[in-house]
Amino acid sequence: MQAVVLGGSFAGLLAARVLHDFADHVTILEPDHERASGSGAPHRNQLHALLAMGHEQLERFFPGLTDEMVEAGAHLGSAQQIQFYIDGKLKPAVPDVQMVGATRSFIEDHVRRHVLALPRVQLLPYRAAGVRVRAGRLQAIPYVTSEGHGDELPADFTVDAMGRSSRLGRWLEAQGWPAPRVERMRIDLGYATARFHRGHELADTVVAHASPGPASNYLPSVCEPGALTAVEGDRWNVVLAGYTGYRPTSDRVAFLGRMRRCVAPIQQVADVCTMDGEPTTFHFRDSRRRHFRELPRLPGGLAVLGDALASVNPIYGQGLTLATLQASALDRHLRTGANPHQPAISYFRHASTVVDAAWQLSTTADLAQPHVTGPYPLGYPIVRWAADRITEASILDADINATFSDVLHMRRHPRALTHPRILLRTARALAARKAASTT
Ligand SMILES: Cc1cc2nc3c(=O)[nH]c(=O)nc-3n(C[C@H](O)[C@H](O)[C@H](O)COP(=O)(O)OP(=O)(O)OC[C@H]3O[C@@H](n4cnc5c(N)ncnc54)[C@H](O)[C@@H]3O)c2cc1C
Repeated sequence: MQAVVLGGSFAGLLAARVLHDFADHVTILEPDHERASGSGAPHRNQLHALLAMGHEQLERFFPGLTDEMVEAGAHLGSAQQIQFYIDGKLKPAVPDVQMVGATRSFIEDHVRRHVLALPRVQLLPYRAAGVRVRAGRLQAIPYVTSEGHGDELPADFTVDAMGRSSRLGRWLEAQGWPAPRVERMRIDLGYATARFHRGHELADTVVAHASPGPASNYLPSVCEPGALTAVEGDRWNVVLAGYTGYRPTSDRVAFLGRMRRCVAPIQQVADVCTMDGEPTTFHFRDSRRRHFRELPRLPGGLAVLGDALASVNPIYGQGLTLATLQASALDRHLRTGANPHQPAISYFRHASTVVDAAWQLSTTADLAQPHVTGPYPLGYPIVRWAADRITEASILDADINATFSDVLHMRRHPRALTHPRILLRTARALAARKAASTT
C-alpha cells in the first residue's frame, strides 16, 4: 500500500506513524516543514497544553517519549503540580493525572524526529494541489514543488491533515464528489502568549490554569482567564485569553497588568520573573468541524485527521489530544484488515465519537459567553444549568472533580458527568455548602 499524508504537522505526523504499520511506503507532503517550529505557523507559538489522554496516547505510539522529553528539559507534572482554578478558587488535586510541560514546537519536534526515523516514511517539502478520484477512490495526489513544478503521487490511501483551512472539500467537488458540510460556532477568541525566565519560584507547579465559571457568569470579573506551564529551557509559558473587545494585546505592560489580576501562581510569575521577548497574539474566529459522515457518497482511500476534521476553542486544550485519538481510530480501522480502497466508514465513525465529545464539551462551555449566539443544542438551558451546578460542586468535592478532570482530559465521555452518582453527590455538596453558609 502506498500511503500519502497531506500536511506534516502534529496530526499528519501521527497519521504517518499509524500508517507505517500497514503501508509499504508513507509519503508526507508538507511545504512548511523547514519552518514547522518557527514563525510560519503562528498558532504553534501559543501555549499548548497536552491533556493527560493525549500524553497517554503519545506514549503508546512512541514508547519512552516522555522520558526522552523530560531528559531534554520538559517537565512532567502530576497531582498538586497541576492546578486548575475556577472563578479564582483552586480545585482539589487529582492524583492520577500527568501532564507534560513543554512548548508545542518541542513536543512536535520530538514526535517528528521519531516519525521521520521510521524506515518507510519520507517527507517531501511539496504542496498538495488537489486529489484525483477515479473508480470511486482517491488514486493520486497532484502536488507542486517549491520551485513551482507540478506532478502527481500515486496513492492507495490518503490522509488529509492540512489543518482547519483544508481545501479537500473543494478538491472533492472539482472531481464531482460532494463536499462535507462545515459546521461553525463563532467565538471570536483572542490569545496572547509570553515567555518568562524561570527560577526557583513555584517549585511545585508545572501547570496552572484559571478560567471563569458560574460565580462570575463566565466573565473575567473575578479573575483573568489564563494559564501557565513550566517548559523546556527554564522558561514559563503564560497565556492570557479574552473574547471580542477584551482580546489581550502584545503590549507587555498590559499583559503584566492582566497577569496580576489572575490566580496566585500567574501573579507571582508577573512579579518575580523577567519576560523573554514580547507577547505574541492570535485571533481564533470560530470552532468548526466537517461532517464527513453525512455525505451520501464518500470516495475510498481517504481519511481526515486533526483540525481538518474538527478544530475547537483552544482554551480547553483539546486539539492535540483529539489528533492522537483520531490516530488511534485510524489504527483501529486499519487493524480490522479494512481494504484501503474502500470508503473508511468505520474510521469516520470512531473519529466522530471523539469529535462529538470534544465539540459538546467546548461548545456547551462557549455558549455561556454572552456574545456566542448559537447554534444551541436541544435542551440547552437544562444542560447549562446542570453543567453550572456540577462545575460548582467540582470545586468542593474531590470525587466529583476526579470525574470532571477525566472528562476535561478526554479520558471519559462528557456523559460520565450526568451519571446518577455524580448528580447525587453534586446535590449533596451544594446542599452542604448552603447549610455551612447559613450557620
Ligand atoms: C491559539 C491556539 C492555541 C491552542 N492551544 C492548544 C492547546 O493548549 N492544546 C491543544 O491540544 N491544542 C491547542 N490548539 C489546537 C492545536 O494547535 C491544533 O489542534 C493542532 O495544531 C492541529 O494540528 P493539525 O496537524 O491538524 O493542523 P496544523 O497544525 O494546522 O497543521 C496543518 C499542516 O498542513 C500543512 N498544509 C496546509 N496546506 C497544505 C497543502 N496544500 N499541502 C500539504 N500540506 C499542507 C500546513 O503547512 C501545516 O503544517 C491551539 C490552537 C490555537 C489556534
